[in-house]
Amino acid sequence: MKPTGPIPPGYDADAQGRVVIAGRNVDALIGEAGDTPLFVYDRAMIAARIARLRAAMPAGINLHYAIKANPFADVLETMAQSVDGFDVASGGELATAMGAGMAAARISFAGPGKRARELEAAIRAGATINLESEREADRALSAAEALGLTPRLAVRVNPDFDLKGSGMRMGGGAKPFGVDAARVVPLVRHLVAAGADYRGLHIFAGSQSLDAGAIIETQANTVALARLIDAESGTAAPLVNLGGGFGVPYFAGDVPLDVEAIGAALAAQVGAEASRYAIELGRWMVAEAGVYLTRIVDRKDSHGKTFLVTDGGLHHQLAASGNFGTVVRRNYPVAVATRFGAPGDEVVSVVGCLCTPLDRLADDVLLPAADVGDVIAVFLAGAYGATASPAAFLGHAPACEMAV
Ligand SMILES: *Cc1c(COP(=O)(O)O)cnc(C)c1O
Repeated sequence: MKPTGPIPPGYDADAQGRVVIAGRNVDALIGEAGDTPLFVYDRAMIAARIARLRAAMPAGINLHYAIKANPFADVLETMAQSVDGFDVASGGELATAMGAGMAAARISFAGPGKRARELEAAIRAGATINLESEREADRALSAAEALGLTPRLAVRVNPDFDLKGSGMRMGGGAKPFGVDAARVVPLVRHLVAAGADYRGLHIFAGSQSLDAGAIIETQANTVALARLIDAESGTAAPLVNLGGGFGVPYFAGDVPLDVEAIGAALAAQVGAEASRYAIELGRWMVAEAGVYLTRIVDRKDSHGKTFLVTDGGLHHQLAASGNFGTVVRRNYPVAVATRFGAPGDEVVSVVGCLCTPLDRLADDVLLPAADVGDVIAVFLAGAYGATASPAAFLGHAPACEMAV
């Protein structure tokens, strides 16, 4: 038997043992959506999360949402009203962000390999381009000149440090992201001299950290680096995006991040200048508010093991299968959504309907006895679910999504 990850707080069962999300049981939710598999996102849970973050962080700091974590339209609409900016990573996400009602002046566009039409779209809209290289800076400046517009440009910095213990390292050493810290000062001078609207610095050092101490240290290094670049370039960055990296507990033994401790330390770092800083988060804001519901279509035994075969799988929820940036496969929090809270009866594996051994949603876990027709819930499905999974693989239908 292997453990499952911790079920996030806020999910309870009704009298029939069904998981309740935003006051409605899973049968009702599936009925309304029309089918399984289904992603359900709880808007109130997202709003509560952002309220907690605002209370924890220094007053006046800018909270940005990295929309790649969950770009579902109804989620973005909620987000557009509760955060101070969106971070996008493609021309498609730029259009999506504006469609959700976020003002272009509050959108920043990072990401390597921006195409000419993407740079032009950002310049036309008035979004900030986080430049990933000196060459990209020159391409953006010439595109703006051709359009007769002043581009809003920031520099993404590849710092010499990274976020310790982070699930995905995005800074430090040779990286395709950002401009090496030692080359940023001349680039800032060049942008200012070329007449660009210099918007500041973007320094993102890593993702999915549950170590408040490591995040505090990285933020302190980041603030110090931004101040050094300001001093050496002779231009104060109007906005310093400190990145994020706030993780969520996916696996057994993971402990939630102490965001209050991070906020207190950051307040001491930034003092009265909080409004000059931003933090950008994806998963911390939305992951726990999403549940993936998939129905059991077969139950079978093979060489003494029981498999619950569902109508979902890694084509919707790649991360839960262990194939999205994890080295060792571990179980996400998984439960029988139609027998929630019942004691475990048997050790089973939950698999998807894809014809590949990679398609495993839970491996050797203790669950209440479940049969064909029961629904499995995979928690932590609010981030990097539907749009981070290979939906076209094997030709199954996309999952339904709803925000309630
Ligand atoms: C993906 C990404 C994020 C969001 O990461 P999370 O781990 O979901 O918080 C933030 N900033 C940048 C630049 C990213 O690429």
